Amino acid sequence: MLLPADPKANYLAHADEIRAAIDRVLASGYYILGSEVESFEKEFSLYQDGGYTIGVANGTEAIELALRALGVKAGDSVATVANTVTATVSAIEQIGAKPVFVEIDPVTMTMSPGALAAVLEKNLGIRAVVPVHLYGQPADMAAIAAAANRAGVKVVEDCAQAHGAAIGGRKVGTFGDAAAFSFYPTKNLGALGDGGAVFVRDEKLAGIVRQLRQYGWRERYISEMPGRNSRLDEIQATILRVKLKYLEAENATRRELADRYLERLKNTALRLPQTVAGQIHVFHQFTLRTPKREALRAYLLGQGISCGILYPVPVHRQPAFADTALVLPETERACDEVLCLPCHPALTRADVDRVCDEILRWATP
Ligand SMILES: *Cc1c(COP(=O)(O)O)cnc(C)c1O
Repeated sequence: MLLPADPKANYLAHADEIRAAIDRVLASGYYILGSEVESFEKEFSLYQDGGYTIGVANGTEAIELALRALGVKAGDSVATVANTVTATVSAIEQIGAKPVFVEIDPVTMTMSPGALAAVLEKNLGIRAVVPVHLYGQPADMAAIAAAANRAGVKVVEDCAQAHGAAIGGRKVGTFGDAAAFSFYPTKNLGALGDGGAVFVRDEKLAGIVRQLRQYGWRERYISEMPGRNSRLDEIQATILRVKLKYLEAENATRRELADRYLERLKNTALRLPQTVAGQIHVFHQFTLRTPKREALRAYLLGQGISCGILYPVPVHRQPAFADTALVLPETERACDEVLCLPCHPALTRADVDRVCDEILRWATP
């Protein structure tokens, strides 16, 4: 069975190195926020070409802590998109803030800067905006940051699906006031358990996030602000250090597989993902669109090809967040049509060709 993502295959690709690294941690006697976390934070900051990385427990809390560090409080509003994992919105709700959903651009399926500007003009008490670099495709950060700056609101980039994606040679996560990464096992950079990080370029802000992740401690046992426990452990950090070395190569493989899909499926009626000139899309997902999504999905599953649907229901239609008055036509249409083909670095060109053969067979009766 071809899977939409395959964290086990990625583990096996680096198993010897990962096991040796874990053994080293086990023998060290130090298991939480130690030298492995510190080294990973330094290495990830270098990967981002400078700045500060703060390892936390998961991607959801990375968003939450970034927003809190930027001063978002209960009663504030935070603008984001509705075609994302509910985690993006859970983070906002954890603070007691209110999500305001912004329509997407139908081509990139990321936040529409024009729609954001319109929402910001309405005076809804918005303190921050959280664009999502969905599927590994960068959102239009120049226009989003410009709209946010004009309105005096902060920007937290949700980079959970976009480790290594870039705009004009600059990595995502470096455009906003802060960024949140998830290292959930299926992400482009994945741990073998939960993990996340906040990335910021400002040293003072980094200090605040570092305090927030551990009881608000300024130093051991002295809490300077209300904080929480959101720590990264040494075993996950050492695994991430191993995997970070291969991230660029694995992202390149994803792009090659995506190029193959694009080439072979270009003459079908399927709407294929578009890459934007000057951007690096890291294809966390290869997401096409078709109104016949369910039929194609069922057909492929019958051929041993499992596809993902990220995401079938937009957040404003989820039972927990239902806002029946709100209508976001582009977002809702995207959620009705998207289908994510298998796309991960353990796949071969032959695997992709097999998926394409089946799709072409399905498409030409
Ligand atoms: C995975 C993901 C998250 C949440 O990360 P966790 O580590 O699961 O908490 C947030 N936003 C997006 C876009 C994601 O893909």
